[in-house]
Amino acid sequence: MDGNEGLAVLEVENASPKNGETYCKSCGKIINKQAVVCPHCGVQNGKLKTDSKERSKLVAALLAIFLGTLGIHKFYLGKIGMGILYIIFSWTIIPSIVSVIEGIIYLSMKQEKFDQKYNSY
Ligand SMILES: [Zn+2]
Repeated sequence: MDGNEGLAVLEVENASPKNGETYCKSCGKIINKQAVVCPHCGVQNGKLKTDSKERSKLVAALLAIFLGTLGIHKFYLGKIGMGILYIIFSWTIIPSIVSVIEGIIYLSMKQEKFDQKYNSY
């Protein structure tokens, strides 16, 4: 039993993260990317999927395409200043055009990139 445990530890320390794995921010050991708490040191790494702050790419895109004239998607993404700008210019056609383009950008954006931009805090 003891020998096996030693081997397992060695394996963990020599391995590099595979797909779906990452290094723990605290102890540097390899953990599953989905892990909210590191099983090795118990430090919180990820964020819970149910976190209400998590912004959805699809919701942002739909808001941009259908309510983009008023900058609703900007408020949704936490860019309050930009949202106000959209409202100020809502009497022009510019926000409508820009927001539809933004909606398409959100949809074609990779989830990782979207998270990096709008879900990192
Ligand atoms: Zn750790």
